[in-house]
Amino acid sequence: MQYLKKLPLILLTVFITISCVKKDKTGSQTSIGEIVLDTSFAGARLNKFQKIKEGKYVGYVLPENEPINSSPWFAFGLKSEKKQQIELQLKYGAYQHRYVPKLSYDKINWKPLESSKIKIDIVQHTATLSLNISSRKLFVAAQEIESSAKTYSWIDSLRLSLPGLKKVVAGKTVLDNDNYVLLHENENVTNSVVFIARQHPPEIPGGTIGFKSFFETVFSDSELARLFRQSFNIYSFPLLNPDGADLGNWRHNANGVDLNRDWIEFSQPETQMVKHFLEKKVKEGMKIRFGIDFHTSYSGPYLLVLDSINETKTNKIIPDWIAQIEKTTNFKVQARRRSQELPYCYNYFFNELGSEAVTYEDGDEIDRTIIKEKAKSHAEELMKVLLQKKIG
Ligand SMILES: [Zn+2]
Repeated sequence: MQYLKKLPLILLTVFITISCVKKDKTGSQTSIGEIVLDTSFAGARLNKFQKIKEGKYVGYVLPENEPINSSPWFAFGLKSEKKQQIELQLKYGAYQHRYVPKLSYDKINWKPLESSKIKIDIVQHTATLSLNISSRKLFVAAQEIESSAKTYSWIDSLRLSLPGLKKVVAGKTVLDNDNYVLLHENENVTNSVVFIARQHPPEIPGGTIGFKSFFETVFSDSELARLFRQSFNIYSFPLLNPDGADLGNWRHNANGVDLNRDWIEFSQPETQMVKHFLEKKVKEGMKIRFGIDFHTSYSGPYLLVLDSINETKTNKIIPDWIAQIEKTTNFKVQARRRSQELPYCYNYFFNELGSEAVTYEDGDEIDRTIIKEKAKSHAEELMKVLLQKKIG
């Protein structure tokens, strides 16, 4: 009965929606007035788009599920045959604006929208963007868009010059997509390091830009990197949450679970995959000496490290690495301590594998050149420390 009472309103809503929105064959290019909205690509998110009046639009940015932390991810394309400036108000519902919008015409070169063109309302939970729209499609996104295909093609291009780097399917995601580990192993070497990137889809600065620079440094042609690769096996999970990345999720995997809170329970295929892989390697005799989990935070950069309780039991790689960075480079390291009980990835390394590990956090809006330089420098100093320790 309740439904029948509401029927006229529902029919009216359907009529209005159909009359002002025309969908093309892809189903995700939508024309609203003179504006064409594109949410057809991997990583896109804009849940609803409406014209309010001439030149003024509203877009809703909604999370994949709740509860979730306040990190509204948006990514969409806009174009118009008529060149025009529009105001687009992004509405975040119960959440606060977090990311400075980035603009691109090719999804390769990005620049942040100038602060004079963004009005943030922390009471209404909105950000109003002033955008110049033309027949050339403008991509607007919370961070640079990095689909799984883009990460995998970066790996494939690196492998052309690194025949020892193997790309292996280590498991499946929730959506039954392949999930990869990259292996670089040596005969008669058991010392190993592990890199994990992008459990949280929007965390491009540390999770993709920083990670790629770090990884490219470890796999570079320098004498240090070559010696390091001969002395350590390297296992990398370059994109642990490809479903979340391609769905344009704010934080979770396709089951709506925060993977970096699942390292005690292991309820998800992505975390189970890492656990099974590493435990198999340990059974084969590998010694996991160090792990890094790459992320990004609002207040980064910093390294998330274990509280002091058990540091004396370790090889002191972390304090020596930090000291080495601060002695030989211009980068200062902020280390933040967390409890060993939290279900975070690095605690799994400490508690279950007996190896040191950190969460590597860069910051949302840190200059991308600095992110790359810092990751390169941090990678070089870590390789030196691990080689100096002569572990094993
Ligand atoms: Zn994160």
